[in-house]
Amino acid sequence: MTAATHSTLFPRVPDSAEAVLDGLDPEQREVATALAGPVCVLAGAGTGKTRAITHRIAYGVRSGVLQPASVLAVTFTNRAAGEMRGRLRQLGAGGVQARTFHSAALRQLQYFWPKAVGGELPRLVERKVQLVAEAAARCGVRLDRNELRDVTGEIEWAKVTQTVPEDYAPAAAKAGREVPRDPAEIGRIYAGYEQLKRDRGVIDFEDVLLLTVGVLQERHDIAETVRRQYQHFVVDEYQDVSPLQQRLLELWLGDRENLCVVGDASQTIYSFTGATPDHLLDFRTRHPGATVVRLVRDYRSTPQVVHLANGILAQARGRAARHRLELVSQREQGPEPRCTEYADEPAEAEGVARRIRELIASGVPASEIAVLYRINAQSEVYEQALADVGVPFQLRGAERFFERPEVRDAVLLLRGAARAGGGTDPGLAGAPDMPSQVRAVLGTRGWTPGPPAGSGAVRGRWESLAALVRLAEDFARSRPGATLGDLYTELEERASAQHAPTVEGVTLASLHAAKGLEWDAVFLVGLTEGMLPITYAKTDEQIEEERRLLYVGVTRARRDLALSWSLSRTPGGRASRRPTRFLNGLRPGSTAAWAAPGVTRGTAFAAGGERGPVPARRRARGPVRCRVCGSTLTDAGEIKLMRCEDCPSELDEALHERLRDWRAEQAALTGQPAYCVFTDKTLLAIAEARPGTESELAGISGVGRRKLDRFGADVLALCAGRLLASEDASEETSEDAPEETPEK
Ligand code: ATP
Ligand code: MG
Repeated sequence: MTAATHSTLFPRVPDSAEAVLDGLDPEQREVATALAGPVCVLAGAGTGKTRAITHRIAYGVRSGVLQPASVLAVTFTNRAAGEMRGRLRQLGAGGVQARTFHSAALRQLQYFWPKAVGGELPRLVERKVQLVAEAAARCGVRLDRNELRDVTGEIEWAKVTQTVPEDYAPAAAKAGREVPRDPAEIGRIYAGYEQLKRDRGVIDFEDVLLLTVGVLQERHDIAETVRRQYQHFVVDEYQDVSPLQQRLLELWLGDRENLCVVGDASQTIYSFTGATPDHLLDFRTRHPGATVVRLVRDYRSTPQVVHLANGILAQARGRAARHRLELVSQREQGPEPRCTEYADEPAEAEGVARRIRELIASGVPASEIAVLYRINAQSEVYEQALADVGVPFQLRGAERFFERPEVRDAVLLLRGAARAGGGTDPGLAGAPDMPSQVRAVLGTRGWTPGPPAGSGAVRGRWESLAALVRLAEDFARSRPGATLGDLYTELEERASAQHAPTVEGVTLASLHAAKGLEWDAVFLVGLTEGMLPITYAKTDEQIEEERRLLYVGVTRARRDLALSWSLSRTPGGRASRRPTRFLNGLRPGSTAAWAAPGVTRGTAFAAGGERGPVPARRRARGPVRCRVCGSTLTDAGEIKLMRCEDCPSELDEALHERLRDWRAEQAALTGQPAYCVFTDKTLLAIAEARPGTESELAGISGVGRRKLDRFGADVLALCAGRLLASEDASEETSEDAPEETPEK
């Protein structure tokens, strides 16, 4: 997935401190060798910032200047932290702590809690949204799903900016927040939420940082202990540091200045959590003696990808944009980015899946391919399409590899075989070398030389085992004569460093979760107005952040980059969508609303794709056919029903009854007439079709995105014959994926 895992799994560990510096350019070397005092690296995507800081730590450790245990490297996501631990290990600096702010804080808090407060650290709340909904209900406020998401976001923002409930309203006004409800009301819900947490003895994600800051601020003895432990700090992705994280960093540092930060203001994508690139851009002001290094050579992407990335940033506005650096690709030429317009979402997913299969057939490993989207809800149709063409995929990457049940089981089994000497087990008798022994052992757990059919759970387990087999093979190549025992030791070390082997499978991830990572081929999908920028991005700053998200997405690609969108959501639906404004002047046939140096209208893209861009007119509503007899429908009522009135109906009477009751309840709750929830025809169509998935439900006429968001979960639960939970608040909140956003 990234450089470290992409190249060979076992590169040679540099044999000296000086050798660690090989493979760095002069500016990167400057970063790596500036081991004392504050250092700030301002550089664009793919210029080797992460590489420079990992080499800096390794150089410091290998040259004896830094004690491994005294270094704390902080990054933004678990995935990135795992990646950094892997890179450090390969450079011979395995003992260094590389963590997210959150996990570093949690570890310290757990350790110091008994001394600072007494007792055990309270449990982390699992369903924050549920608690917010409860708090709102206690205040007599009923929030719909979107409001709930937005109010929860406001509470998170307040907490990371260290704003207490009483100050929320004035603080939100001062910060120019676009608030989803009356600010005074949000302040009350926030207060109620905090009270509920106290009542139940739980803490939330933000509390971990708040409490750590509190303990370090108030207990000088504890702060001193932490400072004695950690002498050197390195922060990656510093443009996305929140005020709370910044405060924690300052407390860790005390009055010392051994801090190295790297970042790219043009990749600020967490402003919604209160993050700001100001800390990065003002670093010199706060640390006047700082060494500031700029990197402009892009080692990651081809000139074609870099050209598009520069074109996107050329249209950017705001402070981050004023600090942007034009990237210069160091790589050989590659294909032009492909830009494809599809009639509808299923067609887009199918087209992307087909293209992925072609890439794999041409030799690109599945682990070197990613499909990136704006919100997690977009993944489903891609999961389906990839499953349909038999391509394995992974939703969250391989970061928890060693915690997977099949991997634990396999590792235990390998340990058993290693202890038995590899020879006493009848299955292993006669196996000539270590990899064959591994294949024999894992064969008892379902590993086979070729993958099983399909791409479900069985395939997932097989991919894990196959990754272990490959690891054994690579390990044996790099260390001829290695035994099962040696392999087991390697596996144990990797597990404790969370250094996962490469699992074959296309990565499906949100743009937010993709930051810092890279793949040979990247598919950016669903690039329509409303999705990117997302509908709820309203202010200029929010729109700029959406543009930066596209920039982050584009710069994840090493070589193949495909951008796509669809004109309608469902087959035969109204072709009402437009491609994202951020590609204006950059995609074929579009006009530039601006004049960017070096970007000529319409030439940035090959008009690629299976079908190529199709004029919107031709792709408008297709004929709708009766799902019973197949004849073309013209009557609006029949179209809604998706069958001729007199064709036999497969109506589920009981379900229809339940749906009608539910609709009456909803109507009463919202004070609207029943047909505003769903019309009779739509309700009938649902009861006939019994949709099992959101996309099936979406395929029913009369079920638009808004209805889907609002009622989808209820309707699907009814169709599945489940009783409804009291509220839709149990759903995950923020579609900005907080579970994989700032570190968890
Ligand atoms: P991002 O902003 O996306 O986090 P980054 O600046 O951290 O990017 P890296 O991930 O460190 O960039 O590097 C991008 C790619 O370029 C990696 O594959 C890395 O190994 C490679 N690379 C960086 N510097 C060099 C170099 N001097 N020589 C060869 N390859 C390099
Ligand atoms: Mg990086």
